[in-house]
Amino acid sequence: MFRSRIARERIERLLTLAREEFKTNPERSRSYVELARKIGMRYNVRLTKKQKRSFCKKCNQLLMPDETSQVQRDSKKKLIIIKCLNCGNIYRYPYKVKSCH
Ligand SMILES: [Zn+2]
Repeated sequence: MFRSRIARERIERLLTLAREEFKTNPERSRSYVELARKIGMRYNVRLTKKQKRSFCKKCNQLLMPDETSQVQRDSKKKLIIIKCLNCGNIYRYPYKVKSCH
C-alpha cells in the first residue's frame, strides 16, 4: 500500500535522525524514536527486526554497544543480553536462529 510505503520511509528517516542526534541531543534522539514507533502503530507498519532491536522499548533510547547499552553474550543459552544504560531495562535475544527442519 502506498501509505504504508511512505510510513516506512518516514520511520527509516526518523531512526537515521535519531542515530545522528543521539550524542549531541539524546532527548531529541529519543523523541525521534518515539515518533517513528507512533507512525508504525498508526499506519500498522511493522518495524524490521533490526529496527526494533536498535532502541529501548521502554525509554526509546537508541541502543549503541558500549555507549548507551551493555552487550553480553551467554554462550550456554545462546543469548545476547542487552542492557539499556539509560533506564536499565534488559533484553535477551537468541543469537542462533533455530532451523525449522
Ligand atoms: Zn531504556
